[in-house]
Amino acid sequence: MSKGNLFIVTGPSGAGKGTVLGRLLPTMEQLQYSVSATTRVPREGEEDGVNYYFLNRNDFLNMVDRGEFLEYAEYVGNFYGTPAGPVDECLEKGVDVILEIEVQGALTVKSKRPEAKLVFIIPPTFADLELRLRSRGSESDEVIAKRLEKAKEEYSMANHYDYIVCNGEVEQAVEELRSIIKAARCTVDRRINLLR
Ligand code: 5GP
Repeated sequence: MSKGNLFIVTGPSGAGKGTVLGRLLPTMEQLQYSVSATTRVPREGEEDGVNYYFLNRNDFLNMVDRGEFLEYAEYVGNFYGTPAGPVDECLEKGVDVILEIEVQGALTVKSKRPEAKLVFIIPPTFADLELRLRSRGSESDEVIAKRLEKAKEEYSMANHYDYIVCNGEVEQAVEELRSIIKAARCTVDRRINLLR
């Protein structure tokens, strides 16, 4: 059996990654969302073990010391990291895995796993980003300003990515991402066994 594909979805805060993935994941088989660990406090409605593993700084840094992260990064004052174990278990079973992580982490994974497919999700315009961040109502002006600054940095790294999905209409963005995943399932690497 061939291994699963690893997809990394990145996009500035407010690009609507969560919404796109939230629609896609229940409709595709053999596709697992990787739950990250973070030191950020939960937003309203977020559940431990579902949206993130919410850890204190100490526990997070202990995981770093034990080498349990595939990657981790600091983002706007908090740590975020991808636990390696669950990702590799899925890939070994032939299940595709999606990481939803920021750009530094994405590039770390790409350097360790060059076969990973990097997808950058953006809103139609930069002004839409600010609008979406503000309408979320969960962050202070200061945090929103930092997130917008970060978004500019992230845009400048987009040339390292394999695909760009433009999230104007959510359904269209979902279909574009679905097509990327389906195409990766049809590569010769994944299908060579069918010839035997
Ligand atoms: P938020 O606080 O809005 O949930 O996430 C902030 C940023 O951290 C987003 O860009 C999100 O994609 C990224 N992020 C979430 N989990 C991880 C992770 O495990 N590793 C890295 N490097 N970034 C992450």
